[in-house]
Amino acid sequence: MASIHRTPLIAGNWKMHLTVKEAGELAAAIKKGLDPDLKHEVLLAPTFTNLHAVKEAIAGSKMFLSSQDVCWEEKGAFTGAVSPAQLLDAGCTHAIIGHSERRKIFLETDEVINKKMKAAIKAGLTPVLCIGETLEERESQKTYRVLETQLNGAFAGIPVLDVAKVIIAYEPVWAIGTGKTATPQQAQDAHIFVRRQAERIYGKDFALSVRVLYGGSVKADNVDELMAQPDIDGALVGGESLKADKFLRVIHYQPALVR
Ligand code: PEP
Repeated sequence: MASIHRTPLIAGNWKMHLTVKEAGELAAAIKKGLDPDLKHEVLLAPTFTNLHAVKEAIAGSKMFLSSQDVCWEEKGAFTGAVSPAQLLDAGCTHAIIGHSERRKIFLETDEVINKKMKAAIKAGLTPVLCIGETLEERESQKTYRVLETQLNGAFAGIPVLDVAKVIIAYEPVWAIGTGKTATPQQAQDAHIFVRRQAERIYGKDFALSVRVLYGGSVKADNVDELMAQPDIDGALVGGESLKADKFLRVIHYQPALVR
């Protein structure tokens, strides 16, 4: 199911790395190395404290700014949380929601992720919804069931009119930060499944237009073959996005080099 044009997106998730100065310098180095004629989109997701520095560094470029999380509440006594409006005010256009580290370490449930999706959409932020199975789930043939449950949970009660801009990132948990990448075929198969679920929930137009990124040990030396897959519309990149030269190679992927 890959017959219409979907603008590819390469996103860097900087997790809990870098000082303000380092984040600004990395963003500036990426901006400097960008092909001025780049046709696809680039998104940087630094920690909350580094959003401002990155916003300043990428000003005037075609790059977008994302948070790594968002609170579902608009304001109030929610110590440690950051609201959608505050993220917009800080220059974010996107918010990563439901990253596996949030699910696993911070015990975020599909219900919480659903609330975050609704709040982000209501405020005008584009969610980058992360889903993916653990190694145990894959080995016990539960991958598709897990993806279906996560998608049902994240989109519960959200009308089709509200999901036009939503981005989905398929990130097998066993591939995140482990150096083990899904094979291009494994990723493509999962992406086809995600698109079929998107069709079941919202219909064919959404399924054909929704961008599905792959995440999990994407590197300069494997991005070309991943991006050569027809249902992979981009990448969510952790470790490799912290090195300007490597991330620039990921951004400027070349599927044509794949034989
Ligand atoms: C991620 O942070 O979403 C990720 C995929 O990390 P890594 O590229 O390091 O596996």
